[in-house]
Amino acid sequence: MTKSKVRSPYPGDCQGAVSLTFDDGLPSQLDRAVPLLEQYGLSATFYLAPRGNDWERRLAPWREVARAGHELGNHTTKHICSRAFADSLDGKSLENCTLEEMEADIVLGKERIQQLAPDQAEMSFAYPCYSTYIGEDASRQSYVPLVAKHHIAGRAGFLEAANHPLTANLACLSTWNGERSWGPTLVGLAERAATRGRWSIFTFHGIDEGHLAINDVDFEELCRHLQLHSDRIWVAPVSQVARRILDWRSEQ
Ligand SMILES: [Zn+2]
Repeated sequence: MTKSKVRSPYPGDCQGAVSLTFDDGLPSQLDRAVPLLEQYGLSATFYLAPRGNDWERRLAPWREVARAGHELGNHTTKHICSRAFADSLDGKSLENCTLEEMEADIVLGKERIQQLAPDQAEMSFAYPCYSTYIGEDASRQSYVPLVAKHHIAGRAGFLEAANHPLTANLACLSTWNGERSWGPTLVGLAERAATRGRWSIFTFHGIDEGHLAINDVDFEELCRHLQLHSDRIWVAPVSQVARRILDWRSEQ
């Protein structure tokens, strides 16, 4: 008997997938997002930046979030971004960072997150400020290979197309920035991707908190829709979807 090809990497009759991701470990993620996700039976990925000497004490509440089945992902410890966000040339930026410094920060962040979530089999990465490079102009280099070396997947910036399981670069995945989005927009994006067999990754920061916030009613509308349509759209943390895609690709 010849081995039949599996139609899609998603479980059951699911057409597509959605990952809900949150960056920077903001208080409203613990206070608002985690309870809402629990209410609707959804698991998400939270990208934490375990910086400073008190990172273990500060991030202690996230241990329980990991135990509840959510993924804790690596967002580096230094969260280095482009100097475009700064008003001077002082300080560390992607432009004056080396690949060696970036790799050390990726490895340290991963080690610390592993301490918070020791039972987690695999871990994904989120590029700080969605940037995938170090250096500038002629010295600019991608650090995507470092993410591929240390993580099963990396969430980068926005591309028009949601990720296709056959063609997506797992170390440089596309995401939709959910801040200030309207509920029906989020639902529409999830549906458009799912009907095309694709994987949508949404990025959120605060729920009614901070400068990249989404209103709780809009976030809840997406959660409610995903729960209602869980037979068609698989919702899982980034590392779990990436693992299934990798296994599925190896069977093709
Ligand atoms: Zn961030």
